[in-house]
Amino acid sequence: MSPAKASAKKSARRKSATQRSAASKPAAKKKAAEKKTAKKKAAKKKAGKKKAVKKKAAKKRGGRKSSEGQGARKKAGARRAGVVRRRVQASGQSPATREPRSGGVRPGVSTRRVFFFGDGEADGGAEMRDLLGGKGANLAEMTLLGVPVPPGFTLSTAVCSEFQDRRQKLSAAVKADVLTALARVEKLMELRFGDPERPLLVSVRSGARISMPGMMDTVLNLGLTDDTVKGLAKLADERFAYDSYRRFIQMYADVVLGIPLDRFELLLERAKSRARVKQDTDLGGSDWRDLVAEYLEVVEEQSGRPFPQTAREQLWGAITAVFKSWENDRAVAYRRLHRIEDVSGTAVNIQSMVFGNMGEDCATGVAFTRNPSTGEPKFYGEYLKNAQGEDVVAGVRTPQPINRASRAPGTEELPTLESEMPRSYAELGLIYRSLEKHYRDMQDIEFTIQGGKLWILQTRNGKRTSAAAVQIAVDMVKERLISREEAVLRVDASSVDQLLHPAVDRSLDLQVIARGLPASPGAAVGRVVFSAEDAESRAKAGEKVVLVRTDTSPEDILGMHAAQGVLTAKGGMTSHAAVVARGMGKSCVAGCGALAIDYAMGEMRVDNHVVRAGDWITIDGSSGEVILGSAPTVTPELSPAFTELMRWTDRMARIKVRTNADTPQDAELARSFGACGIGLCRTEHMFFEPERILIVRQMILAGDLDSREAALARLLPVQRKDFEGIFRAMEGLPVTVRLLDPPLHEFLPQSDHGMEAVARAMGIPIQELKARLEALREFNPMLGHRGCRVGISYPEIYRMQVRAITEAACAVAADGVKVKPEIMVPLIAHPGELRLLRTEVESVIAAVRKENPGTRVRPSIGTMIEVPRAALQADVIAEYADFFSFGTNDLTQMGYAMSRDDANSFLPDYIEQGILRDDPFASIDEDGIGQLVRLGAERGRKVRPDLQLGVCGEHGGDPQSVRFFADLGLDYVSCSPYRVPAARLAAAQAAAADRREDQ
Ligand code: PEP
Ligand code: MG
Repeated sequence: MSPAKASAKKSARRKSATQRSAASKPAAKKKAAEKKTAKKKAAKKKAGKKKAVKKKAAKKRGGRKSSEGQGARKKAGARRAGVVRRRVQASGQSPATREPRSGGVRPGVSTRRVFFFGDGEADGGAEMRDLLGGKGANLAEMTLLGVPVPPGFTLSTAVCSEFQDRRQKLSAAVKADVLTALARVEKLMELRFGDPERPLLVSVRSGARISMPGMMDTVLNLGLTDDTVKGLAKLADERFAYDSYRRFIQMYADVVLGIPLDRFELLLERAKSRARVKQDTDLGGSDWRDLVAEYLEVVEEQSGRPFPQTAREQLWGAITAVFKSWENDRAVAYRRLHRIEDVSGTAVNIQSMVFGNMGEDCATGVAFTRNPSTGEPKFYGEYLKNAQGEDVVAGVRTPQPINRASRAPGTEELPTLESEMPRSYAELGLIYRSLEKHYRDMQDIEFTIQGGKLWILQTRNGKRTSAAAVQIAVDMVKERLISREEAVLRVDASSVDQLLHPAVDRSLDLQVIARGLPASPGAAVGRVVFSAEDAESRAKAGEKVVLVRTDTSPEDILGMHAAQGVLTAKGGMTSHAAVVARGMGKSCVAGCGALAIDYAMGEMRVDNHVVRAGDWITIDGSSGEVILGSAPTVTPELSPAFTELMRWTDRMARIKVRTNADTPQDAELARSFGACGIGLCRTEHMFFEPERILIVRQMILAGDLDSREAALARLLPVQRKDFEGIFRAMEGLPVTVRLLDPPLHEFLPQSDHGMEAVARAMGIPIQELKARLEALREFNPMLGHRGCRVGISYPEIYRMQVRAITEAACAVAADGVKVKPEIMVPLIAHPGELRLLRTEVESVIAAVRKENPGTRVRPSIGTMIEVPRAALQADVIAEYADFFSFGTNDLTQMGYAMSRDDANSFLPDYIEQGILRDDPFASIDEDGIGQLVRLGAERGRKVRPDLQLGVCGEHGGDPQSVRFFADLGLDYVSCSPYRVPAARLAAAQAAAADRREDQ
């Protein structure tokens, strides 16, 4: 389907849907009315249930009695929660994936600057991310759901813009609104801001629409002064109060006053040595009090003013600093790097502090609604009693499991939250279920228990491993939480690789010595070898080896095959090493410029490490890391959930996925991964078997036609046998075989030893052979005598190949096996080339058909579009082609005028400096090379509407590119076997995303 047609079809689909609905309006109206009543009933039932849950939770909390007024407000909150929930369900998307509604402002709130949340009421909601930032919107949403969130309020992103416009000053109106909201928080917490007896402490945090981790500032424990700290000491104890105060001074000094932290750290170290203790936690109340006095002196000395001693002054200072941090260098650079420059300022969240470290009835923890590493649907998490959030992650104390399901090795004996604080655990159980149901995704929840009361500080979609992502998505479909399409969209297609290859075990320390391009995923462990011959002989002796080369050429194929993985110093994502290793499903790290390889010495140097032949190394083709020694690896197992998810993808996808395979084994493997044909069989890879390469060399170096034909006659039966094997393996599925393509020099002997063997076989003196080699030398082999140009100079080569393909197809078909051969001519730049070669190909096919009377084999004939000129001339070329296959590797190389083998020496600079976002050899350059594909597809289909269109460059296995090709309306992509599952998933995601847009 042409791209134009695809979009026409899309709008036709849309149209017919509206027409359908218009035609059956009365019936539809009746149905809608019925649905509405049913929905209302269901909502009522649900509200009843929810009330019961809330009542139960409130009872368990032993919560405060609510006054009449508060009860009414709560009801209003619950009503709104219902509205929010319905809205989320109606949108059919989880809040995390939902596009923020620009503006997202409810009626009457467009002028509001400060948005309160607390005790079941909130001025905002999940759909107001633009205005409240992600954090603010989420806090409001949780509050509306009846989750116990410490009360607070959010200053909107609009206030941030106003603040920047007013030369970074807060207006009196904003301050007034803040004080009003603060009064509501005080009332709920029964504390007062700045009160020396019962001081309210708050946190002040940034929160933009898009999360920018660690880029902006936060101040905790704000409201502590020399007076209020005494009140806090009375409410808790002295040690806690002064520790909190010194933390606050340090944070405030850093964020608001810009005082370097090292002075404070030095004083803390001195205090510890004075008290003869190692850990901060071992310092007592008086130690902290003394330290506070010293900290205050540092502040005065550094800022020239005493530390602010009123809570309000502190608050204005902190809000100002957080708004200012939107424009700090880190944040600006982050936005530029992540291309989120259109986000309009940060919101500021001011929230009552709650403490998990106020005593033995306090705790803090993190929990996931399902196991984040396996996806198992069990509540999972850890906590620490009498601790702060940072202690859980700091590793000083071993966190305890929240329940039995969360027990990890080493924590079997520890008590659980379930056993130590059963009431809070039960309440947490109710909350996590309702949060997961509401957000319809696995949640990562932060909680704190203060004085036996549970508070939820944050909930967000939890990070998970690829295996867990698949398991959770499939389980949630079964639990009717999400649709199959949503499930497919939830799994990151680029992470699917992790499910198919062994990975380096990251739980141990690894000595990473260098980093190159993650060219082919998976871990490989072996002894270093520096030549393909060594790789072969050592592997034959049963050793595991990693082949290390400056770069590889087709000559190294057998060595690559024998090795566990390949490491090269040069080369990009479509270099020979990368493409071939990917095809073999072997790990490859390419273009690792830090390696200085000395073949003669049999060693490589990386910084001050010397690695010799025979030493163990590990390469991680998923991360690009080169690791010293033999690292432990973990081999994944494919789960039933994965198989099920992949089954769904094929029903959704419109663009098909074929494979690039050159052997029957690869073909079978790719079929098992779900490939529905071969999109590229590179015949040249078959030429490198030891007994064949000599014949191939004789064929290329032949001095006359007779000796060339003699060599070709010997190659014919071997090629035929190869094709027979592949056709049988792909029974009934299309197989595209490409005629010889690479520059001829790639086949020629480089070593003296190789040259001698060829001269001997050809019966000519070595000098004559060297002269012929010299005559074949080209300045730019990639732009030289290769592809169809060889077929034009030496038509007998293509004739032999076409004969081998057609004879193999006839033989297989005669055995009752269905075959669909497609013959592909590479590197066409001019229509005249294909016109000529098509006639040649057709005449050979006709001859073979004649020799096989009654055969139904009729190969189709097409071409690669991989030279920019061919894309421009696609309409003329289409007259001679049954199909096009876009060779995006060469198209990128020639369109960008960047060598696919060497570009990695400068491409990283382009990416670092923001000229390019991605390596164009890995992910299609949609604006440039992608447009050549679009143009070629459109022009080709204009002339031949039934023209089959595919992609067989490496981009065919890159999920982002697959989505692009799907949108162009191409018929298939083709990629190496191990990339087939990721491409299938990406293909289904493109269709699912399209459907969503249509709805
Ligand atoms: C291409 O150029 O995209 C292609 C598939 O061919 P090769 O990588 O073999 O040049
Ligand atoms: Mg090519």
